[in-house]
Amino acid sequence: MSYIEKIDPELFEAIKKEADRQEYKLNLIASENYASKAVMEAQGSILTNKYAEGYSGKRYYGGCDFVDIAEDLAITRAKKVFNANYVNVQPHSGSGSNMAVYFSVLHPGDTIMSMDLSHGGHLSHGSPVSFSGKLFNIVPYGVSEKTEMLDYSELLKKAKENKPQMIVCGASAYPREIDFKQFREIADEVGAYLLADIAHIAGLVVAGVHQSPVPYADFVTSTTHKTLRGPRGGIIISKTEELATGINKAVFPGLQGGPLMHIIAAKAVAFKEAMSVKFKQDQIQTVRNAKTLCKCLKEKGFDMVSGGTDNHLMLVNLNNMNITGKDAEAALSKSGIIANKNTVPFETRSPFITSGVRLGTPACTTRGMKETEMELIADYIETAITNSENDRILSETSDKVRELCSRFPVYC
Ligand code: PLP
Repeated sequence: MSYIEKIDPELFEAIKKEADRQEYKLNLIASENYASKAVMEAQGSILTNKYAEGYSGKRYYGGCDFVDIAEDLAITRAKKVFNANYVNVQPHSGSGSNMAVYFSVLHPGDTIMSMDLSHGGHLSHGSPVSFSGKLFNIVPYGVSEKTEMLDYSELLKKAKENKPQMIVCGASAYPREIDFKQFREIADEVGAYLLADIAHIAGLVVAGVHQSPVPYADFVTSTTHKTLRGPRGGIIISKTEELATGINKAVFPGLQGGPLMHIIAAKAVAFKEAMSVKFKQDQIQTVRNAKTLCKCLKEKGFDMVSGGTDNHLMLVNLNNMNITGKDAEAALSKSGIIANKNTVPFETRSPFITSGVRLGTPACTTRGMKETEMELIADYIETAITNSENDRILSETSDKVRELCSRFPVYC
């Protein structure tokens, strides 16, 4: 019997049901993954008991000798996997990492040029409902209407017109390779800082299957829990010592108090895992799976935003399928497939309804699925979306999805 089961049976029941859901539903949420047991063991360790305000070797609390080892390991390994000189591993989240970057070099009212949420950007890049949109003057950019991809000459034009202090590149729902070198050139033309937020693609970057922004951007932020497959959290890479000093001050004491030492330890484990051959193979397979799923859906008549994918995710524009993103998400869910509704570029519906769904392959790749399974999954998606009101067919599909998942155990 587990400790939780003994002390808190109500919570235990919820965790048990969630474990079953994670095992037997097909997770196509592009931002999720399955952390390893070692990552979770570090996350659930006694390191949670320790306060360690400050940085390794310069703490405001005694007794930090061993958590210093954990943080030093996380930093050394992060530097190695990203080929970076300065890394802060303390941010509690991706949004907090971005906030620390803004606060380290910008002032309220400064101009940030960043990707619009409805074109694939993230809330923390300047949405009016986020601190970023409330504190800074945001100049949003989007994809070209014709190609649904970034148009770098348009970006340069916009940067010259608006002279931002910072340009943010990186996205939550952009299926194409991002050219960080071109972003650097644009930032240099207008004297802006460049922040690359690689929360989604960090694992691909580490494995060398996506261009790295580290040689180009002044700051690189990432979450550690998406393709990177670590615990929930953030990291910040800085280009120079001076920028790194500003980042350290912005994270602590600027934005946070005590770092989460158990999470930092789990980040150290994840970075070690990211050095393995298996991790690299999984990232390569993640992209292969995304390309296969995308191709199969396209052949079935689905309108794939930008016509394809270069990374771990794809966006389906459902306008030609006569179904909204919200209804498609519900039909997929009844079929045992978990995905999220998503706005598409030049969206006409509200973010609660949307015209699209976002599909990603990191989680199903971690559990071992390959091209053959992607072909099956494309069939199931088609069945769910074209029979969204037929509960019998959705339920039959759900049985097939459960059988598929049981062949690729996550933790069992
Ligand atoms: N940046 C990007 C590009 C993201 O996609 C996300 C999360 O989805 C974040 C930042 C924020 O991460 P968190 O949820 O840890 O705040």
